Amino acid sequence: MSEQAIFDVFVIGGGINGCGIARDAAGRGYSVALAEMDDFASGTSSGSTKLIHGGLRYLEHYEFRLVREALMEREVLWAMAPHVIWPMRFVLPYHKGGLRPAWLIRLGLFLYDHIGGRKLLPATSTLDMTRDPAAAPLKRLFTKAFEYSDGWVDDARLVVLNARDAADRGARIMARTRVVSARRDNGRWAIETEDALTGKRETVRARLLVNATGPWVDRVLADAIGKNDVHNVRLVQGSHIVVKKKFDDPRAYFFQNPDGRIMFAIPYQDDFTLIGTTDRDFTGNPAEVRISDAEIDYLCRSASEYFSDPVTKDDIVWTYSAVRPLYDDGASKAQEATRDYVLRLEGENGQAPLLNIFGGKLTTYRRLAESALEKIGEAIGIKGSKWTAGSHLPGGDFPAAGYDAEVAKLKTHYPFLAASHARRLVRLYGTRAKQLLDNAASEADLGRRFGADLYAAEVDWLIAHEWALRAEDVLWRRTKLGLKLSRAETAELEEYMRDAASAAA
Ligand SMILES: Cc1cc2nc3c(=O)[nH]c(=O)nc-3n(C[C@H](O)[C@H](O)[C@H](O)COP(=O)(O)OP(=O)(O)OC[C@H]3O[C@@H](n4cnc5c(N)ncnc54)[C@H](O)[C@@H]3O)c2cc1C
Repeated sequence: MSEQAIFDVFVIGGGINGCGIARDAAGRGYSVALAEMDDFASGTSSGSTKLIHGGLRYLEHYEFRLVREALMEREVLWAMAPHVIWPMRFVLPYHKGGLRPAWLIRLGLFLYDHIGGRKLLPATSTLDMTRDPAAAPLKRLFTKAFEYSDGWVDDARLVVLNARDAADRGARIMARTRVVSARRDNGRWAIETEDALTGKRETVRARLLVNATGPWVDRVLADAIGKNDVHNVRLVQGSHIVVKKKFDDPRAYFFQNPDGRIMFAIPYQDDFTLIGTTDRDFTGNPAEVRISDAEIDYLCRSASEYFSDPVTKDDIVWTYSAVRPLYDDGASKAQEATRDYVLRLEGENGQAPLLNIFGGKLTTYRRLAESALEKIGEAIGIKGSKWTAGSHLPGGDFPAAGYDAEVAKLKTHYPFLAASHARRLVRLYGTRAKQLLDNAASEADLGRRFGADLYAAEVDWLIAHEWALRAEDVLWRRTKLGLKLSRAETAELEEYMRDAASAAA
């Protein structure tokens, strides 16, 4: 497409919602451009608890529409991307006199099992905690627990796979490109972008603008689009800690805290446990959100109420924090604000249309994109029809329960790979792991080793196919090898990537 061409749809924001909308729109035949000011998923979409879940807790707030839609999405998304999404069982320990009565939890789990179109995920069961191995790491407080199904997702990869697929379907996908201003001009949008690396500005024209900037949505409305007095989202910070593995069981725990909040402790990256999250109102710049000492204390204290071996600050190997862009429904407490999404289309009397996205979960991103496409169709004319359910994200074209078979296939093709390496590559790249490994016949063919099992072949692939630019992109979003590489190894990777970027410039 030439520089002067007018795109049908211009999306601001490369989080899950922006990338999901761009992919859906490109697949229907719209011409699409997307600009992300930093790296894909560098905002909220890499800072989640990483669950594809109905949201058991939301039933308490009567969010039946959201919970049903989210439950239905679990198996749809698993089938779309079985490399980065997989089922997980959750153990909810119960003791008499606890915060919620057993009948309430049972009712919630009954709904969970019956309103969500469950086909492959196993149903809820009750555990005898005097015998079940799930009791092993916990204090001896529980005689009973409920075990139920939800899903796990590599959130940052889900985003970049949507961006990749959108690009493969013809979208112009721009990383590190900030939208500086967007103004209406003769029934069209004139969008001024700035390249974060070179400072170069460009004006792109489009028929419809989508503001999918998550926690920045009001800022973009005010600063780039020039709206006054906007207040649509409530920003709520949530933080996580990653600690050395607290238990060997493959199941995750769902804990109820004395303050009424809930918390997860999840097996993470083989050697770790992920614990979170918190909920507190946030007023700063979302790009600068960091976990506070009070949150660290809260997470350690709450987890230690359950684990017999307390969780301490010294166990922490990594933390991350993100800001939920919740649609502001005027709820009094942050944890009570709705988790549902709201799409608002503006632009009457021939004005170029603007679609604002407020809220939205990773779990519902595909449905949110379908709703966005309905509005886009209303505004600029329908193209194509719904297509993403039943599609595959890049590398996800294998059966939902076929991960082990994919690993075995990869090992047969590349016998020199260590089993753990093959497993990691299939988790991240699915069937595309073969493209990445190409003709390699030995470890030496993978090029320089940076640390753990990260070789130049993978780094080069991520630069070429997934817009990776800095070490951080590779170590904390495309992979989680940041947990394994030393500082010196990270510095070497940074230098390698800097050289690769200047050679490409
Ligand atoms: C602590 C926490 C836990 C969560 N856990 C879960 C969970 O377990 N399951 C689940 O389903 N959901 C979960 N969520 C919700 C989910 O993560 C978010 O709702 C979702 O990621 C929001 O995506 P987004 O695309 O709207 O926003 P973002 O991911 O923030 O994307 C917006 C993007 O816009 C870009 N941007 C901003 N301004 C501009 C500009 N001017 N020009 C160009 N780009 C710009 C930003 O850089 C950013 O990348 C959680 C959220 C949090 C915070």
